[in-house]
Parts: sequence; C-alpha cells; structure tokens
Amino acid sequence: MSNVEHDPAELRCGGVATAVGRQYELLEPRTVPLGGPRAMMVGRTLPNRDRRMVGAWCFADFYGPADIAGAPGMQVPPHPHTGLQTVSWLLDGEVLHRDSLGSEQLVRPGELNLMTAGFGISHSEESPVGHGPVLHGVQLWVALPGDQRDVAPHFENHSDLPVLPTADGSVTVLMGALAGAESTARTYTPLVGADLSIAAGRTLRLPVEQEFEHAVLAVSDGVFVDDHPLARGNMLYLGRGRDELSVRGDGPARAMLLGGVPFEEELVMWWNFVGRSHDEVAQARAEWEHGRVAADADGRFGVVHGYGGPALPAPELPNVELRARGRMRRPS
Ligand code: MN
Repeated sequence: MSNVEHDPAELRCGGVATAVGRQYELLEPRTVPLGGPRAMMVGRTLPNRDRRMVGAWCFADFYGPADIAGAPGMQVPPHPHTGLQTVSWLLDGEVLHRDSLGSEQLVRPGELNLMTAGFGISHSEESPVGHGPVLHGVQLWVALPGDQRDVAPHFENHSDLPVLPTADGSVTVLMGALAGAESTARTYTPLVGADLSIAAGRTLRLPVEQEFEHAVLAVSDGVFVDDHPLARGNMLYLGRGRDELSVRGDGPARAMLLGGVPFEEELVMWWNFVGRSHDEVAQARAEWEHGRVAADADGRFGVVHGYGGPALPAPELPNVELRARGRMRRPS
C-alpha cells in the first residue's frame, strides 16, 4: 500500500507520490501535558494531523524557554518504550536521565542523549534537585525500521558532536551527516538531525540530501526558512527533492533541522510504544504493567532505580483495535 497525497505537482516514483519543486507545509503544535500529575506543558508538532513523520522522525516535543525557578520543572516518572530511539536535546537547563540499563546521565545543552529502546527499556527524566531557573529543549523520537525494531536497548551520550562553524552561525550535527560533518550517533535509517544557530541578520545556506524529506522546527523567534517566517514552536515541512536549504535569523535565531528518507512502513504508535500491530502494542503494555507491579528487574522493561516516586501506569487500551498508519494522512 502506498501513501498518495493529492498534489498537482507530484511525480509517481516507485508507487510513492513525490512532490517536486518547493513545498511548504506548516505543522502547528498541539499543547500537551508531559508525564504524570506534576506535568509540564509541551508543544507537539509530530505526529501532526495530516503528517505524522519526517523521515523516521515520528515525534517532536518542544518546551520552553520555561521559567522553572522554585518549581519542579520536568518530572517524568519511569515509563517504557519500544521500537524507537529517544533524542534528548537541550538549549538551556539540565535534565537527569535514568534508565533500566543502569544509565544515569545529566543531560546538558550541546550534548546528545540518545536512547535506543529496541525491544524494551524504561527511563525517567527529571529536573534535578537544585536545577537552574530555565528549561528549554526538544525531545524527538526516531522510529526503528521493522527488521531492527527489536534490537537490544542501549544508551549513548555524545558530548563531542561535530560543529560546523560558519560566518553566519554554527551548525551542530546530532544525527547523520550534514555539509560533510558526520555524527557518530547510531542510526538505523538514513536521516539527519541538526541544531542551527543563526547569527543576527545572517542566512545559513546548507546543502541537503535530495533523497530526504526535510522539516525545520523553530525553537526561537525570528526564524525564516527560504524567507517564510516560522513562529517559535512551529514546524515547516519542506518535502523532498531539494539540494539546499536557507535559514535566516531576524536577530539571533535557533532552529532544528530534521530529515530523512521517507519512512514507508506503517506504524502503530500508542502511548510510548512504536509497533506494527495492535497485538504487538498490547503485548508491550501487558508486559510493562506486569513488570511495574511486580518490580521485576528481569522483565522486558526492567526497573529504573533512584527515581523518587512510582512508575507510570499504562493507560487503558482503547476499545477499538489500534490501526497501523502511514507517514501521512490519506486523502479522504
Ligand atoms: Mn520517554
């Protein structure tokens, strides 16, 4: 089954509709609470109503800059994941990550924290005791391809990411490669993720892969993509087939570039699980609930040690069967 979009400028290629020329599709965020009872609000641009993915990027949360002085800040109790990688990236502040592999990592600005859930992992994320006054960052998920969705879970911290200095700003490559600089972070499909820091009034011109589809998420005010203004927290989907991208800062500006080969597999995304079928997700949910209640360190999702509170119970499954969905909504 192929995903076909109604677009006058499309080219049939291998059964998949490919937009040619310049494409600009605004993806506005939904405001959602993150975590449990002391939830922090975040803006979620992926999955969006009509477009669920950009390459293998299947989830994008943006938060801040938030004033968390004297407040709990981020408090996400232990919860499970399957079939994805979490990409944690901070612009300001700090977050303490703990997972069921025993990893304990203070996430800082400029460092990539990449957790590959694979078959199953659990983790907590919290603003540490004595945290700074501001929290500003993104959390992104990357879907693993079907034949590698059950890999053994692992955690990576990258504090030596390649940075491209230019006269117009700087570019930090988190995942994949851009303009000749390549991150050593583990990827499972061809993709790119980069942090673009643009000097006031300057324009970054970046060569990009024509085979990739791309999107830009504005994480500051004053971002322009090919002269299209992009409000903070919004994402602009740019289609595929372009070989250059220009991002201008109307003042010092910051944006995330996401891209990758369009992900053709259909996914069931429910709660914190990425699977291929209702039964796969229901099984993961049952194993999380069993291991959570029994505090089973040898279970599929293990146990997170050191978090000062109980793990998150899974929500009830809906009464209808969860359906696998493609990367974009089919025209009705
Ligand atoms: Mn998580």
